[in-house]
Amino acid sequence: MSTLDQFAAALADLRRSQAAGRLAHAYLVHGPVRGAALTLAEALLQFLFCHAAAPPCGVCAECRGVARHTHPDILWLEPESKSRQIVIGADEQEGIRKVIRFIALTPFSGQHKAAVILDAERMNAQAANAFLKTLEEPPPNSLILLLSEAPQMLLPTITSRCQKIDLSAEPVAPGAWLEPLLDWLRVGPAADPLDAAVRAGGLRRILAAEKKLIEDTERAAPGNADLENEVLDARISAKYLNVRAALFQSVLHWHRDVLLRTLHLADAPYLFPAEATAQQRQAQQRTPAGALADLRRLETLIRRLEQFPAASEQALLGLGLLPEDLGRR
Ligand SMILES: [Zn+2]
Repeated sequence: MSTLDQFAAALADLRRSQAAGRLAHAYLVHGPVRGAALTLAEALLQFLFCHAAAPPCGVCAECRGVARHTHPDILWLEPESKSRQIVIGADEQEGIRKVIRFIALTPFSGQHKAAVILDAERMNAQAANAFLKTLEEPPPNSLILLLSEAPQMLLPTITSRCQKIDLSAEPVAPGAWLEPLLDWLRVGPAADPLDAAVRAGGLRRILAAEKKLIEDTERAAPGNADLENEVLDARISAKYLNVRAALFQSVLHWHRDVLLRTLHLADAPYLFPAEATAQQRQAQQRTPAGALADLRRLETLIRRLEQFPAASEQALLGLGLLPEDLGRR
């Protein structure tokens, strides 16, 4: 079964469980945490929280709140940026303690209280142990979604208390976007703000073309003809997010190569060995420290972009933030 089939099946399954009043209190979603797994979490939460006659409508305040990660009854938790761990938290304002408290509160708007934990395997032992009790005796109407690309790293006591949804898949192979992306990367950092805006436009066009390709392919696929619109939309969105994550991974790989080239390592494990000339030219314009700073900033930007896909992609790319930031040294 492909990821997309897994995705559609999982969503349909969750909806049947909900209709029958048999939704579990905790799910462990195994898959790309900023791709299909996140999309599935958002789709399920929109379905749960939307008040429309045929949920999710995608446009009401509830649906938009879910998509923007601003819904008052949903808590999103991910590893701390510094330690890259999910910690227990000093008090009820942070870490797992915040989740435990939040999930037990009375819902503001809907009938549910939900928490989504991204990269759940990053929970340290103390946090995991504190969380066990909540998983064993979940408050009524609570829903916990653990998203993880490496669920084998979670404590068995945690995983055994969750229903599993498998959206794991082979990494996305570079597609039609790779050549235009390499063209874009070869040009190097923007020289001035106008140049940066032009560069942002270039990246936006690559992403837009890829999205259109996915949409056209999915809508034309014979097997998809009888799918409900929203399931098809969710599939398209999941596939696009996976491709976009792969594309940004390539951008990171390029900058990792440039960093190695500032160090003049002849036989380093370059990820784009055929791009030596363009990368060397870019490496000559910066110090190793500068190249490392670029890489770090880029990682942060991509994490932010992927954390709030619906709301911030347009905004970030529209502002030219990504390429402009890349261009700054
Ligand atoms: Zn809605």
